[in-house]
Amino acid sequence: MRTIIPIPAFRDNYIWAVTHERSVAVVDPGDAAPVFAWLEANDMRLTAIIATHHHADHVGGIPALCERHDVPVLGPARETVPGRTQALGEGDHIDVPGVALSLAVFDIPGHTAGHIALYSTDADPVLFCGDTLFAAGCGRLFEGTPAQMWSSLGKLASLSPATRVFCGHEYTLANLRFAEAVEPDNAAIRARTAREQAKRERDEATLPSTIGAELETNPFLRAARPAVMAQAAAHAGRNIVDPVDSFAALRAWKDGFR
Ligand SMILES: [Zn+2]
Repeated sequence: MRTIIPIPAFRDNYIWAVTHERSVAVVDPGDAAPVFAWLEANDMRLTAIIATHHHADHVGGIPALCERHDVPVLGPARETVPGRTQALGEGDHIDVPGVALSLAVFDIPGHTAGHIALYSTDADPVLFCGDTLFAAGCGRLFEGTPAQMWSSLGKLASLSPATRVFCGHEYTLANLRFAEAVEPDNAAIRARTAREQAKRERDEATLPSTIGAELETNPFLRAARPAVMAQAAAHAGRNIVDPVDSFAALRAWKDGFR
């Protein structure tokens, strides 16, 4: 049976451990130490490493892991990933070694220029999306334009609502505070805030999310809705002419939101 478990790293990163029997593949190992500790504590064998994008808090642990484990490193074709053995891009399909998981690859530029997502279409659909789609939020635009990010988020939003979303950071409560500011009348956001707060009080991860929950509560996926566009326009103090413009205004608003 497959399980997907968060290994916390740094202040708020999650390294995702995909297990099958005694094998494990890790997604976005920014730090090797917590992975080594987890492998030892759980008596598991590392069989593959996957990276969604090149940021150090997602790939920084790869060299140390590869020193001790001779495993394939799968990562985006258009970015520099240490030790990469297989370059991935839009339309690729991979079988992750050791863990009985087949994944389709999407290009989702915006946070970084070559960011990828990985999606399984089996009976339990799962999505690994790094720092692009967060629970109730999205990544900052370090290397891409609002139009690119809006298009990338649209690809992810069109997946099955049941898809479980495994993203790279525990940002959910801060993101929900912003979501409530954008949509103060959205009852789904208030209900979700209560649920996620309870998880954090129990010291649990708020992730995975689902695409269905994101469609109801994530302001960045809801940027084309008239009520959200109106709020974006009011905050920006200008006319908002289309969904990309609305998304750009929301992203700028969130960048300054405390
Ligand atoms: Zn990043």
